Amino acid sequence: MQIKSRSEFDVIVVGSGASGGWACKRLAASGLKVALLEAGKPQSDANFTEHQPEFELKYRNRAKEILHKTRPIQSRFACSEYNADWFVNDLEEPYTTPKDQPFLWMGRLRVTGGRTNVWGRVSLRFSDLDFKAASHDGYGDDWPVRYRDLEPYYDLVEKYVGVTGMAEGLEHLPDGQFQPPMPLTCQETIFRERAKEKLGRTVTLARSANLTRPLNGRGPCHYCGPCERGCMTHSYFNAAFTTVPDALRTGNCKLISNAMVHRVLMDESSNRATGVLYVDRNTKQTRELHARAVVLCAQTQESTRILLNSATRAYPNGLANSSGVLGHYLTAHVRSGGGSGEFSSFGERPTLGGPNKPVGIYVPRFRNLNGQPSAKNFLRGYGYEGESSLDFNWSASGFGDAFKKSLLEPRPSLNITGFGEVLPRWENRIEIDPDVKDVYGIPVLRIHMADGENENAMIKDMGDSAGEMLEAAGARNVRTYAHPSAPRWALHEAGTARMGSDPKKSVLNQFQQTHDVKNLFVMDASGFTSNPCQNPTLNIMTLCVRSCDYLMEELKRGEV
Ligand SMILES: Cc1cc2nc3c(=O)[nH]c(=O)nc-3n(C[C@H](O)[C@H](O)[C@H](O)COP(=O)(O)OP(=O)(O)OC[C@H]3O[C@@H](n4cnc5c(N)ncnc54)[C@H](O)[C@@H]3O)c2cc1C
Ligand code: SF4
Repeated sequence: MQIKSRSEFDVIVVGSGASGGWACKRLAASGLKVALLEAGKPQSDANFTEHQPEFELKYRNRAKEILHKTRPIQSRFACSEYNADWFVNDLEEPYTTPKDQPFLWMGRLRVTGGRTNVWGRVSLRFSDLDFKAASHDGYGDDWPVRYRDLEPYYDLVEKYVGVTGMAEGLEHLPDGQFQPPMPLTCQETIFRERAKEKLGRTVTLARSANLTRPLNGRGPCHYCGPCERGCMTHSYFNAAFTTVPDALRTGNCKLISNAMVHRVLMDESSNRATGVLYVDRNTKQTRELHARAVVLCAQTQESTRILLNSATRAYPNGLANSSGVLGHYLTAHVRSGGGSGEFSSFGERPTLGGPNKPVGIYVPRFRNLNGQPSAKNFLRGYGYEGESSLDFNWSASGFGDAFKKSLLEPRPSLNITGFGEVLPRWENRIEIDPDVKDVYGIPVLRIHMADGENENAMIKDMGDSAGEMLEAAGARNVRTYAHPSAPRWALHEAGTARMGSDPKKSVLNQFQQTHDVKNLFVMDASGFTSNPCQNPTLNIMTLCVRSCDYLMEELKRGEV
């Protein structure tokens, strides 16, 4: 397909990650002509290295300082010698923060599939306790959607993604369309049983986008372990080998790689978006592309950056920002409280080979639920992600046979880490830094984010409750931690272009359509009205599919 400049396309989708992948799949499958603009390069199975041993790598995966030269922020999490070139070069695409509010913006991907290449895959539904949280505890604003609006879309997304999980019948963590569960380890099973028996708390398999049964040509997981290096059998969900190729196969979608979108183009007289201006990352040339509607799916901060960089005379503070809310209410989970403890090995021996189960456990929120007394000093709640491991006794001392014997003594442990909701606050925000541009000449973001009293009290409770649960489960040598999350860091960002029913207090309506410009949509987590403690991505994808169905109807009716 050749790219023409004027309206060859019905819809431009910006970003090919969790949300953009679904947007192009859904829209192209309905017959719409879609241009998918992705800032990163193409992805392919040839880049996947999940089975490659470290000794085959140039630096044996041991030279963090070399990664650090170009990716000082990215190399802190999930980015290794195996996959570093999927991540943004921090020097070429910087951001700024105030000195007293350092923020680690990690997991910035520049490859088809975006963050779904390296994500942790935990896939959890929100509930009405989340969508109507403001009605429950009086803080902030309710979402303009209810659980029952989204339920059929959750079903649709889960059936396609493939989520292994166990049904638990919890109102605040609704069950889904699960593939058969991966087994829990002995230590995880003991923890599950005793937490229920002693404290009445549920411990379940982390509901996770890893297949246990074949699905649409994808194979079940074979437990090799490092999903963040890719997967040749396509056994975890990555937009690069699911939604995006499905969209391309329709013949209605054109993927344009290395296309860094700078701004949305507007026809001011009709108040309509006409397309986008983008920079070709290889040639640094700028290009325009036009369509009937524009859908931003570039990730929370990036989509809002595009809107802020698209200011016009009518919208001097950022496109579609008549409310003044754009950029505000940035949220991202806190996760600096948790604990670990030792359990029996139940006769198992540690091994350097597999199997390596890529899915651990999840402890659903147990604070501030319906019908319970409120936690004394914080609103909302947190869940724990965790896993057990059976390690060698690496700190064994001695020589010869005695050393070998001691080294082989199994060290079984189980750790849990809290993921807590951060209240949406006006002062946590992003704006354009007027003094700094990226290597493509696009103004960068300045990020203002700090935790408040609510988060600090919640983090303390994460540490205390982790200790309580591990002790109740009979763990030995229990260690807990709870420290302020500074510098603030994040992988689960949301907000900055929030949804709402009132155009004076929000940027998007319930279908992620901007209140101000009818043919402009933002379908990633920017629209989240709040950021519940469950991981966001299943919810991002679900909302996106629902919004695409609305967009298709509106295009048909000529309303967009
Ligand atoms: C290490 C890690 C672990 C995670 N674990 C989990 C988990 O267990 N569960 C969970 O729910 N979530 C998890 N997440 C978060 C999850 O990956 C994100 O919520 C999700 O991918 C966001 O989807 P998105 O479509 O908004 O953005 P992304 O998936 O990041 O995709 C955005 C795409 O847009 C492109 N882009 C950006 N700017 C532009 C531009 N200007 N022009 C063109 N293209 C652009 C990017 O290159 C990228 O490909 C994790 C993230 C990381 C990094
Ligand atoms: S652990 Fe499973 S999903 Fe992950 S890379 Fe290996 S086979 Fe794929």
